[in-house]
Amino acid sequence: MEQQYKPKLLWLQSITCNGNTHSFLNHPELFSILSHFELVHHPVLESSFCMQELIDGILPCDILIIEGAFMEKGYLKSGVEVSSIIEHYADNAKHIISAGTCATFGGIFKQKDPEAISGFCFDEEEKTRRYAKYASKLISLPGCPIHPKWLSYVLLMIANDRKISLDALHRPVELYGYTVHTGCTRNEYFEWKIDAKNFGLKEGCLFYEQGCQGPYTRGSCNKILWNDMSSKTRIGTPCFGCTEPTFPQTELFHTKTNMGIPATMPLGIPRRAYLTLTGVVKSFKIKRFSERLMEYDR
Ligand code: SF4
Ligand code: SF4
Repeated sequence: MEQQYKPKLLWLQSITCNGNTHSFLNHPELFSILSHFELVHHPVLESSFCMQELIDGILPCDILIIEGAFMEKGYLKSGVEVSSIIEHYADNAKHIISAGTCATFGGIFKQKDPEAISGFCFDEEEKTRRYAKYASKLISLPGCPIHPKWLSYVLLMIANDRKISLDALHRPVELYGYTVHTGCTRNEYFEWKIDAKNFGLKEGCLFYEQGCQGPYTRGSCNKILWNDMSSKTRIGTPCFGCTEPTFPQTELFHTKTNMGIPATMPLGIPRRAYLTLTGVVKSFKIKRFSERLMEYDR
């Protein structure tokens, strides 16, 4: 029987904490997903070729996954510039996936040297000089780290020769086409302007007093749940906006306001509409929302 061709998958790391690798290792169907591919090289998983063979030769590569921020000069592995290894395989790959915010926009590691460190094709929102060369095969998967199922979605779409719709920063629309706020279970509290006074409470929205970035952040954390069951906002922790080019931000845990009005409006909400609605809502006092549910139910 003729054996079906398996796309060759190569995972390269640049400047990284390994977070995306570890996140992917937590995928409950990891080996079933990987069975659709030939793993040419992965820094942790057993694969066909080791790092030295990768550096020494030109190995086949259909899908290149890049993890970690990019530095054009000065970041070496086995005495070789990592940037040249990545660019070499990027030239040959049919698809390039930037896994995580560092590989996509520069992320946390960019803070160390903002001039020299960036994402592979983007430097925050700006295009790098590599963009023109690789844009036609680029898929951006920002996240710190990425959800393992975001990556498996993209890999299986490629393996099945399905088209993935992308936005202007090359993020799959299916995964980043709405905000973390959209699917949040606390929306009712957001609408009625009832804020949680602390982390970890079941009641209240985390926007004003805990600095939740959910209304500004594109991502599916409240749609494709972490560990199949939860998200930051579900357990009462504010979203930090880790999928955005602006990540990491300083002054977390507090939403900047001018006279009680957010300095930045939630994504796509006109200031006038927001002010009108909040003005109306604040004139009501809804008992259920101003008490903890267990006290209200007594
Ligand atoms: S907790 Fe965050 S994501 Fe949830 S409703 Fe409030 S602002 Fe939106
Ligand atoms: S909820 Fe926000 S901070 Fe958490 S993983 Fe999703 S985008 Fe990142």
